[in-house]
Amino acid sequence: MSFPRGTRAMHVGLLERPLRPAAAGLTLETDFVAGDRIALERVDCLLCGGRDAEPLIAAGDHLTGLGGEFSVVRCPRCTLAWTNPRPTADCIHLFYPPDYRPWDMREERPGWRGGFRQLVEQAALVRDYGYPEGQGSRVGGGERIEDGGSRMEVRHGGHPPSSILHPPSSTRDARRFLLAALARLWLRRRRQRLNWIPFQPPGRLLDFGCGRGDFLETMRRYGWNVEGLDLSPLVAGYVEGRTGIRIHAGTLPHPDVPPNSFDAVTMWNALEHVHHPREVVAAARRALRPGGLLVVGVPNIDSWAFRRFGRWWWQLELPRHLVHFTPATLCRLLVSEGFAIDAVEHVGRPGTIRKSARRALAAGEPSRDLRRLLRKYPAQRIADRTERAGEADFLRVIARRPYGTVRSAPAPA
Ligand SMILES: [Zn+2]
Repeated sequence: MSFPRGTRAMHVGLLERPLRPAAAGLTLETDFVAGDRIALERVDCLLCGGRDAEPLIAAGDHLTGLGGEFSVVRCPRCTLAWTNPRPTADCIHLFYPPDYRPWDMREERPGWRGGFRQLVEQAALVRDYGYPEGQGSRVGGGERIEDGGSRMEVRHGGHPPSSILHPPSSTRDARRFLLAALARLWLRRRRQRLNWIPFQPPGRLLDFGCGRGDFLETMRRYGWNVEGLDLSPLVAGYVEGRTGIRIHAGTLPHPDVPPNSFDAVTMWNALEHVHHPREVVAAARRALRPGGLLVVGVPNIDSWAFRRFGRWWWQLELPRHLVHFTPATLCRLLVSEGFAIDAVEHVGRPGTIRKSARRALAAGEPSRDLRRLLRKYPAQRIADRTERAGEADFLRVIARRPYGTVRSAPAPA
């Protein structure tokens, strides 16, 4: 199944979906606006269950303009911020416009730059992140090049040396070594390594909220055995047809995702969109084998950009973003669902700084330093600085399902 090039292929709006009444459960209070099409619900703290909430900020929906202003509140007990009241799970699709980018199925050709970048990236992943060699060049025993200063040596662990399996490999090794060195230089910024995750053998990966499936295709190319999950059945069907990758429609927990079945679960720009983050994280832990990795990438509301731009901050994304994490609240959620935290990384994004500045200027904010932030290099310098200071507006947390049972409370003495 493919669409003619040059057309705006597929608009996976869910706008035709009939509206059902708001689900029971978390709904404490429901009011109807915009001709009964939008149902809002008020919910308690999604992290600690606290019933108190203090106002943090209010902003409109910059994509659809539906629904007036939405409020973000913060729990005085655990500091989690969430959109409250929020559109119910049954009507949230009204806020995803037809050209919503993650679901935009227009094909993009990687071009020669993209192809070269992939080559460089793969060399770095093999060298530094335990990835298998690419198809056709795989050798036994996990051959790796150890970097001993200017010296190169190839280690073989109980397998025939690669010279038996392949022609003399010095040219290939030298090429790989050069590519990996180049990768270190070229892709030195953290945001360029955003999607790199340590390889977890045997390499079964589930991407939650996979959208158009670009990440899955890349990871498959680098040696993972991938599956995806997306809320939209249309997206799931289309991506599965295009890529041959198995894509489940729906959310976690999911009947087709058995326990202990994945070595890694990834969630890029996904967890902040869900109504029940705790259930999703708990289901991800069950889906992982003991020792498996959960990698979560979300916007960080405890960031320089949020403080600087406030309601014009690009990543606020109301009301599609239902939860607004900080490093502390995301880690608390993961730990309380039985994960151990391996790493918390700040990722500065010059693009969101520039877009936020543009939005603030368009809204008539005093220009002060805003005009400067529209430019590429000043924005990049700020993004780098926020990364170093631990206040970037995007977070990546790598968490691990521990071996053995995890107690949620200490055993009685
Ligand atoms: Zn709370």
